[in-house]
Amino acid sequence: MLDELAHIGRDLSTNGYVRDAWSAADLELREWFRGEAAKRGLDLREDRNGNLWAWWGDPSREPGVVTGSHLDSVRQGGAFDGPLGVVSAFAALDLLRERGVSPGRPLGVACFTDEEGARFGVPCVGSRLLTGVLDPGRALGLTDDEGDTLADVLTRAGRDPRDIGRDDETLATVGAFVELHVEQGRGLAAQDSPVGVAAAIWPHGRWRFDFRGRADHAGTTRLEDRDDPMLPFARVVLAAREAAARRGVVATVGKVRVSPGNANAVPGLVSAWLDARGAAERDVLDLVAELAELGEGADVSEESWTPVVDFDEPLRDRLAALIGAASEGGAPAPILPTGAGHDAGILAAAGVPSAMVFVRNPTGVSHSPHEHAERADCEAGVAALATVLEDLCR
Ligand SMILES: [Zn+2]
Repeated sequence: MLDELAHIGRDLSTNGYVRDAWSAADLELREWFRGEAAKRGLDLREDRNGNLWAWWGDPSREPGVVTGSHLDSVRQGGAFDGPLGVVSAFAALDLLRERGVSPGRPLGVACFTDEEGARFGVPCVGSRLLTGVLDPGRALGLTDDEGDTLADVLTRAGRDPRDIGRDDETLATVGAFVELHVEQGRGLAAQDSPVGVAAAIWPHGRWRFDFRGRADHAGTTRLEDRDDPMLPFARVVLAAREAAARRGVVATVGKVRVSPGNANAVPGLVSAWLDARGAAERDVLDLVAELAELGEGADVSEESWTPVVDFDEPLRDRLAALIGAASEGGAPAPILPTGAGHDAGILAAAGVPSAMVFVRNPTGVSHSPHEHAERADCEAGVAALATVLEDLCR
């Protein structure tokens, strides 16, 4: 299945993937998902927020067990972040059928919309809207680099923007959620284990810093007459690194927009996006406050903030024990924290018992074309997921 997806949204000059939400690539991936659901005779539903659900059994009678992930990517991302969880969900379902398992509860495969936030800057839009933590009015007004709003983009994709928002009917169908994901670190590689279970998701957020100055000629404007916003921007970037190291968190400025953006002009405006995460909320928020103060009058706006998410402990321990018991040594699978946000974290925060299964990533590299998981480890992930689903659906 990953091979079938390999060409979609691929940038041949870098081998990276560009699969923005609601782009042509995303629409093709959504079609593929519908096709896989149809092949298996699953009942496909698209909820009010564009999330896709393929059901084996009817969840309107009794909440089901759901597994899946997302198909969109960061820009220049890898092949595994997201798609591995979706294809493993279908593969685990196939494995259960091969084994002649008939689940006692409905089993669903989910594909969440716009998990990465590559286009509109806010991650997990599909699950945040579903659970009501993202205001529909705010979501519809988000703009992409072309100046199109989410409302424009949804309309063009044939959806009614007025539909989006908290969806209790859909939420009621989800009794539990298990998301399989490629690990975005080297925790499993270090422990020599192909599969592990998530403990918690670090608190994380994105902030936009707008540094304002005065655009001017790069040749004729004397240095002392300039109001150049690039200088405080540069100071904040360097300070972010230093402060993050000092506070034991991570901070990244990965996106910047310079206006007017001419090589021969002093900029008038520099907009930069800070992503900050860490084990303790206080440390992350203090870091942002420190940088805002250093930014010399920069306008700082919070684009997203997700508090720490501890996954359901009994569910987590049960998964680790089950996966361990089915493995060679029989010891429980490793339990690891993660600095990456996921739809499973959004659902967990909304009170849905949720868990994550990680598949080893030999280099730990993610959000990059170099992201990788060995085939044997992906197969171990599918087997682990099938074991877990069989138990939860009993
Ligand atoms: Zn992901």
